[in-house]
Amino acid sequence: MNAPLTDSFGRNVNYLRLSLTDRCDLRCFYCMAEHMVFLPRKDLLSLEELGQVADAFIGRGVRKIRLTGGEPLVRKDFLTLVEHLSTHLSAGRIDEIALTTNATQLHRFAKPLKSLGVKRINISLDSLDPLAFNRITRGGNITRVLEGIDAGLEAGLKLKINTVALKNDNADEIPAMIEWAHERGMDMTLIEVMPMGDISANRTDQYIPLTEIRETLEQKWALHNTTETTGGPSRYVHINETGGRLGFISPLSQNFCAGCNRVRVTCTGKLYMCLGQNDHVDLRRALREGGPGMLDAALDKAMINKPERHNFEINRKSTPAVARHMSVTGG
Ligand code: SAM
Ligand code: SF4
Repeated sequence: MNAPLTDSFGRNVNYLRLSLTDRCDLRCFYCMAEHMVFLPRKDLLSLEELGQVADAFIGRGVRKIRLTGGEPLVRKDFLTLVEHLSTHLSAGRIDEIALTTNATQLHRFAKPLKSLGVKRINISLDSLDPLAFNRITRGGNITRVLEGIDAGLEAGLKLKINTVALKNDNADEIPAMIEWAHERGMDMTLIEVMPMGDISANRTDQYIPLTEIRETLEQKWALHNTTETTGGPSRYVHINETGGRLGFISPLSQNFCAGCNRVRVTCTGKLYMCLGQNDHVDLRRALREGGPGMLDAALDKAMINKPERHNFEINRKSTPAVARHMSVTGG
């Protein structure tokens, strides 16, 4: 293995989030604008090229790869990339292939993913109420998502539910969602809305700090802080009454950048060293013009430029911290 990826703040990068597409079959109102302009298909890296990018990171010590998007399961033939990564998994070169999905297509892919060595999947779900789900996703059908979750559990996948806390749309429903997830043996993580991309709405009307949600939950249950970590920004508590774990991802109310171990690559090969900053390195050019040697040099450059932290803030006057949507960077 070549030198591990370490940034100028001494943080070791061993986790890659790889976006397969910026497209999606839903339009969650905090994530996308209603009428999104998607990238031309010709600009996308092929699945083979995405595999080569992954190989370069693995050669530099990355041990965990998460496929994301847009919606990763809508990328045609995406399983061929999972098959490629699976060879690294079997050879012990990586520890985990993970996935983040809205689960609308999971009923089709749960079994093949499990057989390729995927163990854990994060599922984004912001309401169990069919009407609220339809409103938040601008047209989504919750039945498909619940079928996908059932298929994932049946296939023996460990599922975690990710829920973005929305002041007017699901804050009241969160305790019931926690009970529902924990009854099914699924952990749950709550996430604060982040100011990424223009969504033709004001995020002040959506944002609710998780400190507030936590106070409400503490009136109902005893939340026991745990030191458990999945290597990410989530801070976990255990809830005895429901028997499950609950994570809090609070980029705005409690910054977590000091322990950052990850970078993100878009489906066009842009390597973003921070979710909330614009600095990036063009891996597509490195790959197409220079091959593996130039890719390696590009990763070194990225490590030097990885910013210390994001500067997210949400208030009436603030504009999005970055112009690109979460669906472009891969959440
Ligand atoms: N489509 C897949 C999904 O929804 O799981 C994967 C991509 S999505 C961009 C990844 C995660 O980012 C989801 O959990 C979603 O809720 C979250 N997300 C999107 N936009 C966000 C925003 N502005 N603030 C906070 N979370 C956001
Ligand atoms: Fe699609 Fe995921 Fe964004 Fe929702 S959060 S619009 S499912 S990419």
